[in-house]
Amino acid sequence: MASGFYYQGGILRGDEIALPELAALYPTPFYCYSRQKIIANYQRFDKALAAAGIEQRQICYSIKANGALAIINTLAQAGAGADIVSGGELVRALRGGISADKIVFSGVGKTAEEIRAGFAATIARFNVESLDEIDMIAALARDRGKVAKLAVRINPDIEAGGHTKISTGKAEDKFGIAYENAVAAYAHIAALDGVEAQGIDIHIGSQILDLTPFRHAFARVRDLLTTLRSAGHNITHLDLGGGLGVPDETDSPPLDITAYANLIAETFKDCAPQGQCHITLEPGRALVADAGVLITRVIRTKKSAPNQKSTKNFMIVDASMAELIRPTLYDAYHHIAPLTEPEKETPIYQWDIVGAICESGDILGLGRTLPAMPADTPLAIFHCGAYASVLASHYNARPHIAEVMIDKDTHQIIRPRQTYDELLAGETIPDWNQ
Ligand SMILES: *Cc1c(COP(=O)(O)O)cnc(C)c1O
Repeated sequence: MASGFYYQGGILRGDEIALPELAALYPTPFYCYSRQKIIANYQRFDKALAAAGIEQRQICYSIKANGALAIINTLAQAGAGADIVSGGELVRALRGGISADKIVFSGVGKTAEEIRAGFAATIARFNVESLDEIDMIAALARDRGKVAKLAVRINPDIEAGGHTKISTGKAEDKFGIAYENAVAAYAHIAALDGVEAQGIDIHIGSQILDLTPFRHAFARVRDLLTTLRSAGHNITHLDLGGGLGVPDETDSPPLDITAYANLIAETFKDCAPQGQCHITLEPGRALVADAGVLITRVIRTKKSAPNQKSTKNFMIVDASMAELIRPTLYDAYHHIAPLTEPEKETPIYQWDIVGAICESGDILGLGRTLPAMPADTPLAIFHCGAYASVLASHYNARPHIAEVMIDKDTHQIIRPRQTYDELLAGETIPDWNQ
């Protein structure tokens, strides 16, 4: 049986489940994740690295792509560690069952409180992004009588990623320490008590669909490794970040994971004199994006004002930018299709598929060719496993929607839809207003 989301006999299935049946069972909108697809994505990644001969390796799932405990736990069971960027993600990773010695802590703005939480949990490593942060970690480590293991995140000044909002490796981005200052940063660490430089770290961007930016970035890491080792630094770990793209229907073919693994093996194969490094990777999107769909329903359709040059057809659905902000934030394309494929001869029209939020930017798909669909017709928005639920907002007082996980022929709610009482929980009207 196939895993993930696919049409069979005109019906969209998730693993072995017919999704129209699921949509009849759970109120829309809801996110639906395939456990089997997540596991398959992880194993494909890990096997490619193994096949390339990278024996010492750890895939650290980037929690920020989707922090659902059920997803974290699925990946933990498959062998994943975690890449976290906040104290909240540390709690999620640990509660999701990731062992602390497989957790790396990234991010430009770790606070003292978050750093202490990292010590308390005994995480594997901090990926540090500035001298100021290094000094703070060193001071906090000395207070505890500890030595913190660090990897310095280098900004390789490389353009990568599908959109300026998801590029992180250019000189003007806020991330990392400038490449030309890297050697000085390692010297700084070597002179400090409480910290030890164990590795080099990069993460150049997201939704990267060709190997070129990776090739350039890895070459810079390789050069720096040689320089650092000849300066006497004992660098044993390389963290090459995430960023592997998942193409949508309009994009080029997927990034070749075997070629990616071979590129890593090739670039770092003979790092004399100390030999091979332990390789950490931090994929987020590549593990979960295509393992999730957002199930929604048509509320109604309407036309734009008739005096305009082109009259538009709007299809208003019960999902919105509050549950999927990627189209409006990143101009992302998400394929949208009914759960039951329409008959071949059905006339089709151009639709702007939009939500009910009071923003013109509340767009899920522009100019989609689909038949006219009656109210209540269920639709799937594809590739909603990553950066959908985690970016959800409560705008227009919308409660967080339900999340469902499927596993072969079973399904379970992993997070119920929030009630209005839960949405308002904790708010008070001040005493003086009463
Ligand atoms: C976001 C992020 C990732 C994951 O990026 P993807 O594009 O989802 O693979 C990995 N590492 C760091 C430091 C990140 O900020």
